[in-house]
Amino acid sequence: MPITVILMSTSAHHPADAARSGGTVTDRLVEANQRYAAGFQDPGMDARPVLHVAVVACMDARLDLHDALGLALGDCHTIRNAGGVVTDDVIRSLTISQRALGTRSVILIHHTNCGLETITEDFRHELEDEVGQRPAWAVEAFRDVDQDVRQSMQRVRTSPFLPHTDDVRGFVFDVTDGLLREIDPSA
Ligand SMILES: [Zn+2]
Repeated sequence: MPITVILMSTSAHHPADAARSGGTVTDRLVEANQRYAAGFQDPGMDARPVLHVAVVACMDARLDLHDALGLALGDCHTIRNAGGVVTDDVIRSLTISQRALGTRSVILIHHTNCGLETITEDFRHELEDEVGQRPAWAVEAFRDVDQDVRQSMQRVRTSPFLPHTDDVRGFVFDVTDGLLREIDPSA
């Protein structure tokens, strides 16, 4: 089982190590949850994020938002999808975040080496050819990550549903060194 050996050796200090053997992956995650819950204490928080901030980010597995931004439980809303794209559904979540749950700031995080840089809108046509139906959604593939962050900031700032658009900042996370690089919205 060389793959198992590699996983174990590269994640020797990962707290989820114990969740990496036996059963399906979901079985292992549920078992890990039982250990988590055994030591869990009710933090006594309500649903309003402590820092009044919503973070919109790519779903990329290499981006640990809480560690990368020094966030603790209860601090923020995290809204993630492929690319960290500001879709209608992200605007839906941000609208609820701001109007019902008190957030004021929005942080957008794309990253280097994103999967959306490796595909094109042809993906939709290939899907249509394969399944006989074109998806209603855009793939939102991009070539220039900086420009895509600018477009995302613009979509947030111009949304008629969001009452708080004066603190919207966008960044690119470098998956090789862990640093955020801020994107100038006017560049
Ligand atoms: Zn990505």
